Amino acid sequence: MLRGLPSIEALLRQPHLAAWPRPLLADVARAWLDELRAAVLAGQLDAAALAARLGAPAHAELVLRCQRRAAMRHRSVVNATGIVLHTGLGRAPLAAAAVAAVQQAAQYAIVELDPDTGVRDQRELGVAALLRDLTGAAALVVNNNAAATLLMLAAHGAGREVVVSRGELVEIGGGFRMPDVMQQAGCRLVEVGTTNRTRVGDFEAATGPHTAAWLCVHPSNFRIEGFTAAPELPALVAAARARGLPVLDDLGSGLLWDAPLPGLETEPRVRAHLAAGPAVVVCSGDKLLGGPQCGILFGSAEAIAQCRRHPLYRALRCDKLTLAALEATLRIYRDSEPLVQIPTLAMLAAPPARLEARSRELAQRLGGAARVVPRESFAGSGANPARPLPSFAVALPCGDALATALRRSTPRPIFARVHQGAVQLDARTLLHEDLEPLAAAVRSALASP
Ligand SMILES: *Cc1c(COP(=O)(O)O)cnc(C)c1O
Repeated sequence: MLRGLPSIEALLRQPHLAAWPRPLLADVARAWLDELRAAVLAGQLDAAALAARLGAPAHAELVLRCQRRAAMRHRSVVNATGIVLHTGLGRAPLAAAAVAAVQQAAQYAIVELDPDTGVRDQRELGVAALLRDLTGAAALVVNNNAAATLLMLAAHGAGREVVVSRGELVEIGGGFRMPDVMQQAGCRLVEVGTTNRTRVGDFEAATGPHTAAWLCVHPSNFRIEGFTAAPELPALVAAARARGLPVLDDLGSGLLWDAPLPGLETEPRVRAHLAAGPAVVVCSGDKLLGGPQCGILFGSAEAIAQCRRHPLYRALRCDKLTLAALEATLRIYRDSEPLVQIPTLAMLAAPPARLEARSRELAQRLGGAARVVPRESFAGSGANPARPLPSFAVALPCGDALATALRRSTPRPIFARVHQGAVQLDARTLLHEDLEPLAAAVRSALASP
């Protein structure tokens, strides 16, 4: 049986495979032959089963493996999961203007130089000016919100105590646990209150000569319901001020959009939190803000300058691609129509009737067994996990096998959810230009065995 296996040279000569670069093909063919050889030696393949894998099926398998090897890992996908901010799929999709800005900045671009004077300046001046226009606060931008939290705590609490409610000692995911971050920032954690109830008086009672700050953390990804109490931010800030202490506020998602969004009524707004007067407010750039991955620190000029002077800032600062994408996104907030131009907000605000119409359009392109069904989608990334957003999807009655085939589609993998044995393609996260390629990929996945 082993003698019946083709040689690598024979495979390299195959006309079906001639389009692939030889080193790539040789690598793939060698790995495939090794697998077959091992299966034969382990008695897992009889002669008939081996014969069925050779010839045309072998060439098809090798083409598939070459395609997978040649594909970029960071490639564009169709998000049909209905989860708008899907961490596995890169959270916020960028606005068209932000994509164009990234492309420009990828070449030589202005980062730390003033073209008028020729003098070196600070890289975040552009985005800081926009953030000031939008919020009135001074701002600084770093790699992500975890970095922003670390820098805020290190700059304002290192070597001293930071008081925080037991109900807000959260783990965000990906190993980001608030007590660990505080330790890394060099702060001593002082826990107050209980899991479900904490009052301003608890903070006051725990404050002493070694206290540096009081910390608030938005419990993004969970809800405690029932007999609960947490201090209102204005009351907490007033009590802290009376003791000459800063309040540090980790907002998590950070909505820059003030008008109501369905399902997100209780998500904290950046401007509302700043109005309460904490020294520093931090949030993510790629959650509800709808921009690139980054962390934004807002606050008074002095509080932000203190963060900027900290040596960690140099290690956490953003690259030019991020700054360009953020600048373009913030310009939309300042000058244009965020609800139309920022995909995250547009998806969150899409009314169910529009999602139903989009689902019908997709179902029509698919024909056959495709059905339009109501379902629930989610904002994702910790934004209001308890409040699903009513949506519509196209359901296809072939579950896991189809979902796997769709994930392996080329050039764009398709991610969908399987519910009660059916693949559901949720219209909320589909862009109009996704519909035709999506329909083509589904037809092709259904046609192949
Ligand atoms: C998401 C989140 C973070 C981490 O933000 P990243 O931008 O993912 O680093 C920190 N704190 C809270 C409350 C969050 O919701």
